[in-house]
Amino acid sequence: MALVRERRLPHLNLTVELPVPAAADCRLRFPVSPQRCSTSYAATDDAEFRLSEFEKLRVLGHGNGGTVYEVRHRVTAAVYALKVVHTDTADAFLRRQVYREVDILRRAAGSDRVVRFHGMAPTPSGDVALLLEHMDGGSLDALLRRRGYRPFPEPALAAVARQALLGLADLHSRQIVHRDIKPANLLINATGEVKIADFGVGKVLRRSLDPCDSYVGTCAYMSPERFDSESYGGDYDPYAADVWSLGLAVLELHRGHFPLLPKGARLDWAALMVVICFGEAARAVPEGAASSEFRGFLDCCLQKESRKRWSVAELLGHPFVAADYRAESEKALQDLLHEEMDEP
Ligand code: ATP
Ligand code: MG
Repeated sequence: MALVRERRLPHLNLTVELPVPAAADCRLRFPVSPQRCSTSYAATDDAEFRLSEFEKLRVLGHGNGGTVYEVRHRVTAAVYALKVVHTDTADAFLRRQVYREVDILRRAAGSDRVVRFHGMAPTPSGDVALLLEHMDGGSLDALLRRRGYRPFPEPALAAVARQALLGLADLHSRQIVHRDIKPANLLINATGEVKIADFGVGKVLRRSLDPCDSYVGTCAYMSPERFDSESYGGDYDPYAADVWSLGLAVLELHRGHFPLLPKGARLDWAALMVVICFGEAARAVPEGAASSEFRGFLDCCLQKESRKRWSVAELLGHPFVAADYRAESEKALQDLLHEEMDEP
């Protein structure tokens, strides 16, 4: 990921310009309603407040961009996630990147399947902090780790896939592509809701895509056409690329490790390019290790030629995620989650 970002930084054609708040004014935009954990108000219903109104409880995660903390509002006791993105004030790219993430989060407000955004502020040290809905089950990547890398059962995977597809449907209908779908960017809460997070490399499509821009994203989850667009579908279709990444993320949760390489293998750029472009991701599930519905679903997501891949809308009608089994699959996901969350 770092490699990809470094390689592409000079070529990014960023279109979102938001004003940079004055460093002295460390105020966040804050929801007036003091409810815990966020799901009941729109991200636009916010008022201003100060960072000092929060206490940090613990670190929730680290990423390339910064650190995410669990924080509690000192008066209301409402709990949020605070993503502190390290922005070097001298580096306009980093600052624009964070404002782009904020712009996307605001555009996605109202989607039940995208992590809610409540406000942003500069920190006293010159970083930028984003106040987000706290997803108390963490990322699916961390959930897999907590399970000792035991694969998720199929019904639970169906619930993950269906909810992530609903999130992508909301994004794609707003002309937003995520470009970094992976288990670490799919978060879950205690009720078993799965939401899409981390729009650090997302993009609002305003015109045809700059081909230089198509490499952004974690390369392990990048589709073949992002390495070689001519061989795998011609024009780069960023919506289809999100579908590939989702298929691979679901497959990883099924296998318990990155599915295109042997367990424990180092993920370097060259090895990834070879397995993604010349391997057969859709056949990474051994015969007999999955139902025909699940295999069919993976096949639709992981077509190497982007034109043959199903769209998000088509996938939502696939029997693997069909509404008939919705209650059963959501219960399976909740059971799996509570097995891990209830452990001492
Ligand atoms: P990346 O390396 O993917 O670019 P990043 O710096 O953009 O990462 P995020 O992916 O947004 O940061 O967050 C990093 C980690 O922090 C996530 O994988 C997750 O474990 C945790 N996290 C992020 N947002 C939340 C949230 N809203 N609730 C709970 N945990 C969160
Ligand atoms: Mg991330």
